[in-house]
Amino acid sequence: MKVAVSACLVGKNTKYNGGNNYNEAVMKYLLDKEYVTICPEVIGGLPTPRIPSERKGNKVINKIGEDVTINFFDGAQKEIEKLLKESINIIIVKEKSPSCGYKQIYDGTFTNTLTEGNGVFVDLALQNGFIIYTEKDIEKMVD
Ligand code: SF4
Repeated sequence: MKVAVSACLVGKNTKYNGGNNYNEAVMKYLLDKEYVTICPEVIGGLPTPRIPSERKGNKVINKIGEDVTINFFDGAQKEIEKLLKESINIIIVKEKSPSCGYKQIYDGTFTNTLTEGNGVFVDLALQNGFIIYTEKDIEKMVD
C-alpha cells in the first residue's frame, strides 16, 4: 500500500513558523509502508517560514491581510497531480491546517476559532477520490 503524508508530520520543517509537527504514531504507521510527502503551501510557492494564513470560504488570507489564495490552490493542484501519477489512495494530513485540515479548520478570524470545513488541498483530494486520515485517526489506529 502506498500512502502520502503531510511533510510536517514526518518532521520536515515546512510549517509556517519554520518548524514541524513530527508525530510518533504516524511514523510508526508508516514503518512498513512506502510513502511520499506533500506540502501544498511550499509547492504553491510560499516561503518557509511564512506568515500564517486561514481559509475564508474560497479565499485564503494571511494574518497581515494578503490574499494567498492562488498559492494555496496552485499548490493543491500540483500535489494532487503528483499523487494521481503515483497511484496513491490514502493521504494522512495534518489536522486544522488551511491546506491539509480535514473536517475542522480555523475560521479566518485569527482568533483560534475552529469551524467545520476542509483545507484547500483536502477538498481537492476528496473530489479526486482519495481517502483522508488525520494524525488523530492514526493515533487511534496505532494505539
Ligand atoms: Fe504541513 Fe500541510 Fe502545512 Fe505543509 S501545508 S506545513 S504539509 S500542514
